[in-house]
Amino acid sequence: MSVTQDATSGQRSHRTQTIRLATELFMVARRPYEDPPLRHDLGPMNVLCHHCRALHWNAERTVESTRSSTPQFGTCCNHGKVNLPAPPAPPQVLHNLLQGSDAQCTEFRTNIRAYNMALAFTSLGVKSSLDVNQGFGGSAWCKQVTTPDS
Ligand SMILES: [Zn+2]
Repeated sequence: MSVTQDATSGQRSHRTQTIRLATELFMVARRPYEDPPLRHDLGPMNVLCHHCRALHWNAERTVESTRSSTPQFGTCCNHGKVNLPAPPAPPQVLHNLLQGSDAQCTEFRTNIRAYNMALAFTSLGVKSSLDVNQGFGGSAWCKQVTTPDS
């Protein structure tokens, strides 16, 4: 067998393997979804940061506090170093919907996520930046998005 025949045979073998692998991957991709046999479970997210009262998973505690009865967390308030002011009170209409007990209030609280998604970005302002938006053609456009109260 000549060198040329070996190379051709090798190429054919490589092509055959590539086609077989592609076919196997295609068949894997076409399988119906099945839940994996094992799921990663962090347990309940019910461990409270005693500084800011944020809820954490137990696995989020710092290494230094793994043996302590008071878990420490660095991802929320960084051990109490970050202290944000309380958010402003909501408008009275919204406060009533959030706190009320009538049917309208209950319906509002049941669908609050859908309302939030539906109304997001329904009212915004845009200022074009002339610093970036110069010249012709399809260049980048820089917009500063502002909310009605900003
Ligand atoms: Zn915290």
